[in-house]
Amino acid sequence: MTDLTALDAASLATKIHSREVSSVEVTQAHLDRIAAVDGEYNAFLHVSGEAALAAAKQVDDALAAGQDPASPLAGVPLALKDVFTTTDAPTTCGSKILEGWVAPYDATLTTKLREAGIPVLGKTNMDEFAMGSSTENSAYGPTRNPWDTTRIPGGSGGGSAAALASNQAPLAIGTDTGGSIRQPAAVTATVGTKPTYGTVSRYGLVACASSLDQGGPCGRTVLDTALLHEVIAGHDPRDSTSIDAPVRPVVEAARQGATGDLKGLRVGVVRELHSDSYQPGVIASFDAAVAQLKELGAEVVEVSCPSFEYALASYYLVLPSEVSSNLARFDAMRYGMRVGDGTMSADQVMAATRAAGFGKEVKRRIMIGTYALSSGYYDAYYGSALKVRTLIARDFDAAYEKVDVLVSPTSPFTPWKLGEKVDDPLAMYLSDLCTLPTNLAGHCAISVPSGVSADDGLPVGLQVMAPALADERLYRVAAAYEVARGPIAR
Ligand code: GLN
Repeated sequence: MTDLTALDAASLATKIHSREVSSVEVTQAHLDRIAAVDGEYNAFLHVSGEAALAAAKQVDDALAAGQDPASPLAGVPLALKDVFTTTDAPTTCGSKILEGWVAPYDATLTTKLREAGIPVLGKTNMDEFAMGSSTENSAYGPTRNPWDTTRIPGGSGGGSAAALASNQAPLAIGTDTGGSIRQPAAVTATVGTKPTYGTVSRYGLVACASSLDQGGPCGRTVLDTALLHEVIAGHDPRDSTSIDAPVRPVVEAARQGATGDLKGLRVGVVRELHSDSYQPGVIASFDAAVAQLKELGAEVVEVSCPSFEYALASYYLVLPSEVSSNLARFDAMRYGMRVGDGTMSADQVMAATRAAGFGKEVKRRIMIGTYALSSGYYDAYYGSALKVRTLIARDFDAAYEKVDVLVSPTSPFTPWKLGEKVDDPLAMYLSDLCTLPTNLAGHCAISVPSGVSADDGLPVGLQVMAPALADERLYRVAAAYEVARGPIAR
Protein backbone atom coordinates (compact mmCIF):
# COMPACT_ATOMS: atom_id res chain seq x y z
CA MET A 1 0.00 0.00 0.00
CA THR A 2 1.25 3.50 -0.80
CA ASP A 3 2.34 5.56 2.15
CA LEU A 4 0.02 8.52 1.76
CA THR A 5 2.26 10.74 3.89
CA ALA A 6 5.14 10.38 1.43
CA LEU A 7 3.16 11.85 -1.49
CA ASP A 8 3.26 15.46 -2.63
CA ALA A 9 0.13 17.59 -2.34
CA ALA A 10 -0.59 17.72 -6.08
CA SER A 11 -0.63 13.90 -6.31
CA LEU A 12 -2.79 13.63 -3.21
CA ALA A 13 -5.25 16.14 -4.67
CA THR A 14 -5.50 14.11 -7.90
CA LYS A 15 -6.18 10.92 -5.96
CA ILE A 16 -8.74 12.58 -3.69
CA HIS A 17 -10.57 14.32 -6.53
CA SER A 18 -10.76 11.12 -8.61
CA ARG A 19 -11.98 9.41 -5.41
CA GLU A 20 -9.18 6.85 -5.49
CA VAL A 21 -8.59 7.72 -1.83
CA SER A 22 -10.68 9.84 0.50
CA SER A 23 -9.61 13.03 2.18
CA VAL A 24 -10.50 11.38 5.48
CA GLU A 25 -7.99 8.58 4.76
CA VAL A 26 -5.29 11.07 3.78
CA THR A 27 -5.96 13.26 6.81
CA GLN A 28 -6.04 10.27 9.16
CA ALA A 29 -2.74 9.00 7.73
CA HIS A 30 -1.12 12.33 8.59
CA LEU A 31 -2.68 12.43 12.07
CA ASP A 32 -1.31 8.92 12.66
CA ARG A 33 2.10 10.01 11.49
CA ILE A 34 2.01 13.03 13.82
CA ALA A 35 1.05 10.78 16.74
CA ALA A 36 3.89 8.40 15.87
CA VAL A 37 6.78 10.79 15.26
CA ASP A 38 6.15 14.28 16.57
CA GLY A 39 7.33 13.38 20.06
CA GLU A 40 10.77 13.41 18.45
CA TYR A 41 10.44 16.68 16.49
CA ASN A 42 8.01 18.92 18.44
CA ALA A 43 6.75 20.50 15.21
CA PHE A 44 3.17 20.88 16.49
CA LEU A 45 1.98 22.92 19.46
CA HIS A 46 -1.60 21.81 18.98
CA VAL A 47 -3.14 19.00 16.90
CA SER A 48 -6.74 19.47 15.73
CA GLY A 49 -7.64 15.89 14.84
CA GLU A 50 -11.41 16.14 15.09
CA ALA A 51 -11.73 19.43 13.25
CA ALA A 52 -9.37 18.22 10.50
CA LEU A 53 -11.33 15.00 10.00
CA ALA A 54 -14.63 16.91 9.95
CA ALA A 55 -13.27 19.23 7.25
CA ALA A 56 -11.99 16.21 5.32
CA LYS A 57 -15.36 14.51 5.51
CA GLN A 58 -17.07 17.60 4.11
CA VAL A 59 -14.77 17.44 1.09
CA ASP A 60 -15.44 13.73 0.61
CA ASP A 61 -19.21 14.23 0.91
CA ALA A 62 -19.19 17.05 -1.63
CA LEU A 63 -17.19 14.96 -4.10
CA ALA A 64 -19.47 11.97 -3.54
CA ALA A 65 -22.44 14.23 -4.33
CA GLY A 66 -20.84 15.03 -7.69
CA GLN A 67 -19.67 18.55 -6.84
CA ASP A 68 -16.44 19.98 -8.20
CA PRO A 69 -13.60 20.27 -5.68
CA ALA A 70 -13.71 23.61 -3.85
CA SER A 71 -10.09 24.28 -4.92
CA PRO A 72 -7.21 22.41 -6.60
CA LEU A 73 -6.01 21.44 -3.10
CA ALA A 74 -9.41 20.49 -1.63
CA GLY A 75 -9.01 17.58 0.77
CA VAL A 76 -5.22 17.89 1.18
CA PRO A 77 -4.34 18.60 4.84
CA LEU A 78 -2.02 21.35 6.05
CA ALA A 79 -0.01 22.52 9.07
CA LEU A 80 -0.65 26.13 10.12
CA LYS A 81 1.91 28.32 11.86
CA ASP A 82 0.60 29.23 15.31
CA VAL A 83 0.52 32.94 14.52
CA PHE A 84 -2.69 32.90 12.43
CA THR A 85 -5.88 33.10 14.46
CA THR A 86 -8.27 30.15 14.50
CA THR A 87 -11.59 30.04 16.36
CA ASP A 88 -11.39 26.26 16.89
CA ALA A 89 -7.84 25.99 18.29
CA PRO A 90 -5.56 28.09 20.50
CA THR A 91 -3.23 30.68 18.97
CA THR A 92 -0.12 31.11 21.14
CA CYS A 93 2.55 32.55 18.81
CA GLY A 94 4.97 30.34 20.74
CA SER A 95 4.54 32.59 23.79
CA LYS A 96 3.55 31.90 27.39
CA ILE A 97 1.64 35.17 27.43
CA LEU A 98 -0.93 33.67 25.02
CA GLU A 99 -1.00 30.16 26.46
CA GLY A 100 -4.43 28.64 25.78
CA TRP A 101 -5.79 31.82 24.17
CA VAL A 102 -8.51 31.16 21.59
CA ALA A 103 -9.13 34.01 19.16
CA PRO A 104 -12.64 35.38 18.66
CA TYR A 105 -12.27 35.37 14.88
CA ASP A 106 -10.48 33.48 12.10
CA ALA A 107 -7.64 35.12 10.16
CA THR A 108 -8.53 35.79 6.52
CA LEU A 109 -5.91 33.19 5.61
CA THR A 110 -7.62 30.64 7.89
CA THR A 111 -10.97 31.41 6.24
CA LYS A 112 -9.43 30.95 2.80
CA LEU A 113 -8.08 27.54 3.82
CA ARG A 114 -11.50 26.52 5.12
CA GLU A 115 -13.23 27.73 1.94
CA ALA A 116 -10.67 25.86 -0.17
CA GLY A 117 -11.52 22.60 1.65
CA ILE A 118 -8.06 22.28 3.21
CA PRO A 119 -8.18 20.43 6.55
CA VAL A 120 -5.92 22.06 9.17
CA LEU A 121 -4.03 19.33 11.05
CA GLY A 122 -2.83 21.65 13.78
CA LYS A 123 -0.78 24.69 14.73
CA THR A 124 3.00 24.61 14.38
CA ASN A 125 5.80 25.63 16.70
CA MET A 126 7.65 28.90 16.19
CA ASP A 127 10.02 31.35 17.81
CA GLU A 128 8.04 33.55 20.19
CA PHE A 129 6.08 36.14 18.17
CA ALA A 130 8.19 35.12 15.14
CA MET A 131 11.45 36.49 16.52
CA GLY A 132 14.30 34.10 15.93
CA SER A 133 16.06 31.88 13.41
CA SER A 134 16.07 28.53 15.19
CA THR A 135 12.66 27.98 16.90
CA GLU A 136 14.61 27.84 20.17
CA ASN A 137 12.83 31.02 21.31
CA SER A 138 9.54 29.10 21.57
CA ALA A 139 8.18 28.97 25.12
CA TYR A 140 7.16 25.37 24.36
CA GLY A 141 10.57 23.87 23.63
CA PRO A 142 12.53 23.82 20.39
CA THR A 143 11.59 21.96 17.23
CA ARG A 144 14.19 19.50 15.95
CA ASN A 145 15.42 19.23 12.38
CA PRO A 146 14.26 15.93 10.80
CA TRP A 147 17.60 15.71 8.96
CA ASP A 148 19.44 15.55 12.28
CA THR A 149 17.51 15.93 15.53
CA THR A 150 20.48 17.52 17.29
CA ARG A 151 20.16 20.50 14.92
CA ILE A 152 17.87 23.51 14.53
CA PRO A 153 15.04 23.47 11.93
CA GLY A 154 15.46 27.19 11.24
CA GLY A 155 13.13 29.88 12.45
CA SER A 156 10.87 31.36 13.17
CA GLY A 157 8.77 28.87 11.22
CA GLY A 158 10.77 25.78 12.21
CA GLY A 159 7.62 23.86 13.12
CA SER A 160 6.06 24.20 9.68
CA ALA A 161 9.31 23.27 7.91
CA ALA A 162 9.96 20.27 10.18
CA ALA A 163 6.36 19.06 9.71
CA LEU A 164 6.96 19.02 5.93
CA ALA A 165 10.40 17.46 6.11
CA SER A 166 9.17 14.62 8.36
CA ASN A 167 6.05 13.92 6.23
CA GLN A 168 3.70 15.01 9.00
CA ALA A 169 2.00 17.39 6.56
CA PRO A 170 2.19 17.76 2.77
CA LEU A 171 1.55 21.53 2.96
CA ALA A 172 2.27 24.22 5.52
CA ILE A 173 1.85 27.93 6.13
CA GLY A 174 4.57 30.21 7.41
CA THR A 175 5.18 33.93 7.84
CA ASP A 176 8.23 35.79 6.67
CA THR A 177 9.24 39.07 8.30
CA GLY A 178 12.97 38.71 7.69
CA GLY A 179 13.31 35.15 6.41
CA SER A 180 11.13 32.95 8.61
CA ILE A 181 9.69 31.00 5.68
CA ARG A 182 12.81 30.84 3.51
CA GLN A 183 15.54 30.03 6.05
CA PRO A 184 13.62 27.11 7.63
CA ALA A 185 12.89 25.85 4.09
CA ALA A 186 16.61 26.04 3.27
CA VAL A 187 17.82 24.13 6.33
CA THR A 188 15.19 21.36 5.98
CA ALA A 189 15.39 20.93 2.18
CA THR A 190 11.82 22.09 1.64
CA VAL A 191 10.35 24.91 -0.46
CA GLY A 192 8.98 28.21 0.87
CA THR A 193 7.92 31.52 -0.61
CA LYS A 194 7.71 35.01 0.81
CA PRO A 195 5.08 36.55 -1.46
CA THR A 196 5.09 40.22 -2.43
CA TYR A 197 4.19 42.37 0.59
CA GLY A 198 0.46 43.14 0.50
CA THR A 199 -0.60 40.13 -1.56
CA VAL A 200 -1.48 37.78 1.34
CA SER A 201 -3.78 39.26 3.97
CA ARG A 202 -2.37 40.10 7.39
CA TYR A 203 -5.85 40.21 8.95
CA GLY A 204 -5.70 37.79 11.88
CA LEU A 205 -1.94 37.35 11.57
CA VAL A 206 -0.64 38.34 15.01
CA ALA A 207 1.69 41.23 14.25
CA CYS A 208 5.44 41.06 14.69
CA ALA A 209 6.60 43.96 12.47
CA SER A 210 3.66 45.11 10.38
CA SER A 211 5.59 46.74 7.53
CA LEU A 212 7.55 43.50 6.96
CA ASP A 213 5.24 40.60 7.95
CA GLN A 214 3.86 38.45 5.16
CA GLY A 215 2.21 35.03 5.25
CA GLY A 216 3.26 32.53 2.64
CA PRO A 217 3.11 28.96 1.33
CA CYS A 218 5.46 26.07 2.16
CA GLY A 219 5.66 22.65 0.49
CA ARG A 220 8.00 19.86 -0.50
CA THR A 221 7.79 20.73 -4.20
CA VAL A 222 7.65 23.97 -6.16
CA LEU A 223 4.28 23.07 -7.72
CA ASP A 224 2.69 22.32 -4.33
CA THR A 225 3.94 25.65 -3.03
CA ALA A 226 2.51 27.45 -6.07
CA LEU A 227 -0.87 25.73 -5.66
CA LEU A 228 -1.03 26.87 -2.04
CA HIS A 229 0.17 30.37 -2.99
CA GLU A 230 -2.88 30.85 -5.22
CA VAL A 231 -5.23 29.64 -2.46
CA ILE A 232 -4.00 32.14 0.15
CA ALA A 233 -3.26 35.23 -1.97
CA GLY A 234 -5.74 37.95 -2.88
CA HIS A 235 -6.99 41.38 -1.93
CA ASP A 236 -8.56 41.81 1.51
CA PRO A 237 -10.31 45.05 2.45
CA ARG A 238 -9.74 44.15 6.12
CA ASP A 239 -5.97 44.61 5.71
CA SER A 240 -5.16 48.25 4.98
CA THR A 241 -1.87 47.35 3.26
CA SER A 242 -3.44 44.70 1.04
CA ILE A 243 -2.86 45.34 -2.67
CA ASP A 244 -5.96 45.43 -4.84
CA ALA A 245 -4.57 43.48 -7.79
CA PRO A 246 -5.24 40.09 -9.34
CA VAL A 247 -3.42 37.04 -7.90
CA ARG A 248 -0.25 36.35 -9.89
CA PRO A 249 -0.39 33.25 -12.14
CA VAL A 250 2.15 31.27 -10.13
CA VAL A 251 0.75 27.79 -10.83
CA GLU A 252 0.93 28.29 -14.57
CA ALA A 253 4.49 29.61 -14.15
CA ALA A 254 5.50 26.56 -12.09
CA ARG A 255 4.07 24.21 -14.73
CA GLN A 256 5.80 26.11 -17.54
CA GLY A 257 9.08 26.16 -15.65
CA ALA A 258 8.97 22.42 -15.05
CA THR A 259 8.55 21.63 -18.73
CA GLY A 260 10.56 24.41 -20.31
CA ASP A 261 13.97 26.01 -20.26
CA LEU A 262 15.13 29.40 -19.06
CA LYS A 263 16.12 30.85 -22.46
CA GLY A 264 15.84 34.61 -22.50
CA LEU A 265 15.77 34.90 -18.72
CA ARG A 266 18.33 37.24 -17.16
CA VAL A 267 19.63 36.16 -13.75
CA GLY A 268 21.71 38.39 -11.48
CA VAL A 269 24.08 36.97 -8.87
CA VAL A 270 24.24 39.49 -6.03
CA ARG A 271 27.92 40.15 -5.28
CA GLU A 272 27.20 41.32 -1.72
CA LEU A 273 25.40 38.04 -0.92
CA HIS A 274 28.28 35.79 -2.01
CA SER A 275 30.91 36.06 0.67
CA ASP A 276 33.97 34.22 1.92
CA SER A 277 32.43 34.40 5.37
CA TYR A 278 29.69 31.95 4.34
CA GLN A 279 30.10 28.22 4.87
CA PRO A 280 32.21 26.88 1.95
CA GLY A 281 29.78 24.03 1.26
CA VAL A 282 26.94 26.54 0.93
CA ILE A 283 28.88 28.62 -1.60
CA ALA A 284 29.83 25.48 -3.57
CA SER A 285 26.20 24.31 -3.69
CA PHE A 286 25.09 27.78 -4.77
CA ASP A 287 27.73 28.01 -7.52
CA ALA A 288 26.65 24.60 -8.83
CA ALA A 289 23.02 25.78 -8.89
CA VAL A 290 24.00 28.88 -10.87
CA ALA A 291 25.85 26.67 -13.36
CA GLN A 292 22.63 24.67 -13.79
CA LEU A 293 20.62 27.83 -14.42
CA LYS A 294 23.11 28.63 -17.21
CA GLU A 295 22.69 25.16 -18.67
CA LEU A 296 18.96 25.77 -18.69
CA GLY A 297 19.62 28.72 -20.97
CA ALA A 298 19.55 31.61 -18.50
CA GLU A 299 21.88 34.52 -19.07
CA VAL A 300 23.78 34.99 -15.80
CA VAL A 301 25.53 38.24 -14.81
CA GLU A 302 26.93 39.59 -11.57
CA VAL A 303 25.20 42.61 -10.08
CA SER A 304 26.12 44.80 -7.14
CA CYS A 305 23.72 46.06 -4.48
CA PRO A 306 26.04 48.01 -2.18
CA SER A 307 23.40 49.00 0.39
CA PHE A 308 22.66 45.35 1.19
CA GLU A 309 25.66 45.57 3.49
CA TYR A 310 23.52 47.68 5.82
CA ALA A 311 20.35 45.56 5.57
CA LEU A 312 20.98 43.74 8.83
CA ALA A 313 21.53 46.98 10.76
CA SER A 314 18.47 48.58 9.20
CA TYR A 315 16.26 45.53 9.81
CA TYR A 316 17.30 45.18 13.44
CA LEU A 317 16.16 48.76 14.06
CA VAL A 318 12.96 48.75 11.98
CA LEU A 319 11.78 45.40 13.34
CA PRO A 320 12.31 46.07 17.07
CA SER A 321 10.75 49.53 16.71
CA GLU A 322 7.58 48.03 15.25
CA VAL A 323 7.70 45.20 17.81
CA SER A 324 7.91 47.60 20.73
CA SER A 325 4.76 49.29 19.49
CA ASN A 326 2.83 46.16 18.37
CA LEU A 327 3.49 44.15 21.52
CA ALA A 328 2.21 46.95 23.76
CA ARG A 329 -1.21 45.36 23.26
CA PHE A 330 -0.22 42.54 25.64
CA ASP A 331 -1.18 44.54 28.70
CA ALA A 332 -2.62 41.74 30.88
CA MET A 333 -6.10 43.15 30.34
CA ARG A 334 -7.07 42.28 26.82
CA TYR A 335 -5.45 38.97 25.94
CA GLY A 336 -4.18 35.84 27.61
CA MET A 337 -2.13 35.67 30.77
CA ARG A 338 -2.57 37.85 33.86
CA VAL A 339 -0.19 37.76 36.82
CA GLY A 340 -1.01 39.48 40.11
CA ASP A 341 -3.69 39.87 42.73
CA GLY A 342 -6.15 42.40 44.09
CA THR A 343 -3.48 44.25 46.04
CA MET A 344 -1.66 45.31 42.86
CA SER A 345 -2.30 48.37 40.69
CA ALA A 346 -3.06 47.94 36.98
CA ASP A 347 0.49 49.07 36.15
CA GLN A 348 1.97 46.52 38.53
CA VAL A 349 -0.18 43.74 37.02
CA MET A 350 0.91 44.74 33.56
CA ALA A 351 4.58 44.82 34.49
CA ALA A 352 4.42 41.49 36.33
CA THR A 353 2.55 39.83 33.46
CA ARG A 354 4.94 41.05 30.79
CA ALA A 355 7.94 40.06 32.92
CA ALA A 356 6.57 36.54 33.35
CA GLY A 357 4.93 36.13 29.96
CA PHE A 358 7.59 37.26 27.48
CA GLY A 359 10.83 35.42 26.80
CA LYS A 360 14.34 36.86 26.64
CA GLU A 361 14.55 37.64 22.94
CA VAL A 362 11.15 39.35 22.87
CA LYS A 363 12.17 41.52 25.83
CA ARG A 364 15.49 42.34 24.19
CA ARG A 365 13.75 43.55 21.02
CA ILE A 366 11.10 45.55 22.89
CA MET A 367 13.90 47.35 24.71
CA ILE A 368 15.96 48.00 21.57
CA GLY A 369 12.88 49.25 19.75
CA THR A 370 11.69 51.46 22.57
CA TYR A 371 15.15 53.01 22.73
CA ALA A 372 15.31 53.53 18.95
CA LEU A 373 11.95 55.30 18.96
CA SER A 374 12.52 57.50 22.00
CA SER A 375 12.79 61.23 21.59
CA GLY A 376 16.35 62.37 21.01
CA TYR A 377 17.29 59.02 19.43
CA TYR A 378 14.50 58.61 16.88
CA ASP A 379 16.26 60.39 14.00
CA ALA A 380 19.62 58.82 14.67
CA TYR A 381 18.31 55.25 14.86
CA TYR A 382 14.83 54.70 13.46
CA GLY A 383 15.15 57.57 10.98
CA SER A 384 18.51 56.34 9.65
CA ALA A 385 17.20 52.80 9.37
CA LEU A 386 14.34 54.03 7.18
CA LYS A 387 16.78 55.91 4.93
CA VAL A 388 18.82 52.74 4.47
CA ARG A 389 15.60 50.90 3.68
CA THR A 390 15.02 53.34 0.81
CA LEU A 391 18.56 52.85 -0.46
CA ILE A 392 18.06 49.08 -0.48
CA ALA A 393 14.88 49.46 -2.52
CA ARG A 394 16.81 51.65 -4.97
CA ASP A 395 19.58 49.06 -5.31
CA PHE A 396 16.94 46.47 -6.14
CA ASP A 397 15.30 48.79 -8.70
CA ALA A 398 18.63 49.40 -10.41
CA ALA A 399 19.39 45.67 -10.47
CA TYR A 400 15.98 44.81 -11.92
CA GLU A 401 16.62 47.15 -14.81
CA LYS A 402 19.34 44.72 -15.87
CA VAL A 403 17.97 41.34 -14.81
CA ASP A 404 14.62 39.56 -14.30
CA VAL A 405 15.52 37.76 -11.06
CA LEU A 406 18.31 37.85 -8.50
CA VAL A 407 19.81 34.79 -6.83
CA SER A 408 21.82 34.07 -3.69
CA PRO A 409 22.16 31.34 -1.10
CA THR A 410 19.08 31.48 1.19
CA SER A 411 21.17 31.22 4.34
CA PRO A 412 24.94 31.47 4.75
CA PHE A 413 24.96 28.29 6.87
CA THR A 414 23.49 24.81 7.01
CA PRO A 415 21.51 23.97 10.19
CA TRP A 416 23.68 24.37 13.26
CA LYS A 417 23.52 22.48 16.55
CA LEU A 418 20.70 23.27 18.97
CA GLY A 419 22.05 25.57 21.66
CA GLU A 420 25.06 26.70 19.62
CA LYS A 421 23.92 30.31 19.09
CA VAL A 422 21.38 30.88 21.87
CA ASP A 423 23.77 33.04 23.90
CA ASP A 424 24.99 35.03 20.92
CA PRO A 425 22.07 36.98 19.37
CA LEU A 426 24.27 38.59 16.75
CA ALA A 427 25.51 35.22 15.46
CA MET A 428 21.86 34.18 15.24
CA TYR A 429 20.91 37.36 13.34
CA LEU A 430 23.66 36.72 10.77
CA SER A 431 21.77 33.73 9.41
CA ASP A 432 19.24 36.22 7.97
CA LEU A 433 21.76 38.22 5.93
CA CYS A 434 20.52 37.03 2.55
CA THR A 435 16.79 37.10 3.21
CA LEU A 436 16.34 40.52 4.88
CA PRO A 437 16.73 42.83 1.83
CA THR A 438 13.61 41.35 0.16
CA ASN A 439 11.47 42.09 3.23
CA LEU A 440 12.79 45.63 3.58
CA ALA A 441 11.88 46.31 -0.07
CA GLY A 442 8.49 44.54 0.07
CA HIS A 443 9.48 42.25 -2.81
CA CYS A 444 9.08 38.47 -3.18
CA ALA A 445 11.49 35.51 -2.97
CA ILE A 446 11.50 31.71 -2.85
CA SER A 447 13.87 29.18 -1.33
CA VAL A 448 14.26 25.91 -3.23
CA PRO A 449 16.61 23.11 -2.10
CA SER A 450 19.96 23.07 -3.91
CA GLY A 451 21.15 19.77 -2.50
CA VAL A 452 23.37 19.13 0.49
CA SER A 453 26.61 20.76 1.52
CA ALA A 454 29.82 18.83 0.84
CA ASP A 455 31.04 19.97 4.31
CA ASP A 456 28.47 18.21 6.41
CA GLY A 457 25.81 16.55 4.22
CA LEU A 458 23.14 19.02 5.41
CA PRO A 459 20.59 20.92 3.29
CA VAL A 460 21.33 24.14 1.40
CA GLY A 461 18.76 26.46 -0.18
CA LEU A 462 18.89 28.52 -3.36
CA GLN A 463 17.11 31.86 -3.03
CA VAL A 464 15.44 33.40 -6.09
CA MET A 465 14.26 37.01 -5.69
CA ALA A 466 11.94 39.06 -7.93
CA PRO A 467 10.38 42.53 -7.90
CA ALA A 468 7.03 43.30 -6.29
CA LEU A 469 4.12 41.63 -8.09
CA ALA A 470 6.38 39.43 -10.20
CA ASP A 471 5.99 36.35 -7.99
CA GLU A 472 5.45 34.12 -11.04
CA ARG A 473 9.12 34.58 -12.02
CA LEU A 474 10.16 32.85 -8.79
CA TYR A 475 8.16 29.78 -9.67
CA ARG A 476 9.29 29.57 -13.26
CA VAL A 477 12.94 29.59 -12.22
CA ALA A 478 12.52 27.37 -9.15
CA ALA A 479 10.47 24.77 -11.06
CA ALA A 480 12.96 24.59 -13.92
CA TYR A 481 15.82 24.31 -11.46
CA GLU A 482 14.03 21.64 -9.40
CA VAL A 483 13.74 19.39 -12.47
CA ALA A 484 17.36 19.98 -13.52
CA ARG A 485 18.61 19.37 -9.98
CA GLY A 486 16.76 16.05 -9.59
CA PRO A 487 15.94 14.35 -6.30
CA ILE A 488 18.04 15.05 -3.21
CA ALA A 489 19.59 12.01 -1.56
CA ARG A 490 19.18 12.00 2.20
N1 GLN B 1 15.01 35.54 11.95
C1 GLN B 1 14.49 36.84 11.74
C2 GLN B 1 14.24 37.54 13.05
O1 GLN B 1 14.63 37.00 14.03
C3 GLN B 1 13.26 36.77 10.89
C4 GLN B 1 12.03 36.49 11.65
C5 GLN B 1 10.82 36.38 10.77
O2 GLN B 1 10.89 36.39 9.55
N2 GLN B 1 9.68 36.33 11.42
O3 GLN B 1 13.69 38.59 13.12
